[in-house]
Amino acid sequence: MKSYDAVVIGGGPAGMAAALYLARAGVNFLVVEKMTHGGQMLLTDELENYPGFPDGIKGYELADRMAEHVKKYDFEHRYAAVEKIIPGKEHHQLIIEGETVQSEVIIIASGVSFRKLKVPNEEKFLGRGVSYCALCDGNFFKNKVVAVIGGGNSALEESIYLSKLVKKLYLVHRRDQFRADKVFRDKCLDNPVIEPVLNSVVSKIVGKTEVEGVELFNTVDNSYSVLDVDGVFIFVGFNAVCSFFPDELELDQLGFIKTTCEMESSIPGIFAAGDIRSKKCRQIVTAVGDGATAATAAYAYLEHK
Ligand code: NAP
Repeated sequence: MKSYDAVVIGGGPAGMAAALYLARAGVNFLVVEKMTHGGQMLLTDELENYPGFPDGIKGYELADRMAEHVKKYDFEHRYAAVEKIIPGKEHHQLIIEGETVQSEVIIIASGVSFRKLKVPNEEKFLGRGVSYCALCDGNFFKNKVVAVIGGGNSALEESIYLSKLVKKLYLVHRRDQFRADKVFRDKCLDNPVIEPVLNSVVSKIVGKTEVEGVELFNTVDNSYSVLDVDGVFIFVGFNAVCSFFPDELELDQLGFIKTTCEMESSIPGIFAAGDIRSKKCRQIVTAVGDGATAATAAYAYLEHK
């Protein structure tokens, strides 16, 4: 059985920062990433709030720069999915695509998955008008009409990106106020392509073989109406992906991992960093901070052992 000092799960900003700090400390470690390095950064067009880039930076470019930095160091890397973590006293075990490896320390930086609306036709029309990624699918809707669902930073930031492509964008939110940061609210409200549709909940996605509209329920006057749109972009937050977590791992009510401020989970030797951690501020800059803190605490744990 292969044995490591540490295994980092995830190649997003938290995982890459953890890898950088572990590598520089001389730890023997493995990084396991399901897809490709970069995580959610790859789904964002322009990043305007990562310090050091006053003119902004493309999401993929920051991801590439981080990866280039980390790859200066020597460590093992696998593109694979972790199926299970089995905690132990001396070592923890991980099942990675059928193979068991052991490690003294695990840093879980596995990120999150898109939350679904769970309305009729959402799954059926995925790829036929329903999307969770403006950067990936926006071009299919050039000069068309779309609805964006959500009122957080993702929905408003992605609306600003889509507004450069589409003819008309309805920004549908279930309350009368957006939760997003002021900078995004101002940009959306000043944008002639974007029309906010407030107090409205999507009850159904409408269409025969592809999206033709969204049915909305107005929470103020209890009426139903249909908006004719060619596409629906859904940004209503994220869920924790916890299928491989051990039962003993303490989670918050939403399934995110509870940690100390040193990123220690409820299981000694298991740390969590980035969006998968229970916290309020989910940003690239906080993910990077979590990753560095987790790696530093993990190194101290290994030294102590
Ligand atoms: P979020 O902040 O959790 O916002 C989700 C939005 O979707 C909320 O407006 C929520 O409405 C709405 N919503 C949730 N469930 C819904 C449902 N079933 N039907 C209709 N609407 C629903 O999620 P997010 O915008 O994806 O952001 C996630 C995290 O990433 C946040 O911490 C955010 O700050 C961060 N982020 C940062 C940036 C940036 O700084 N550039 C960009 C993107 C994301 P309510 O408001 O009524 O709850």
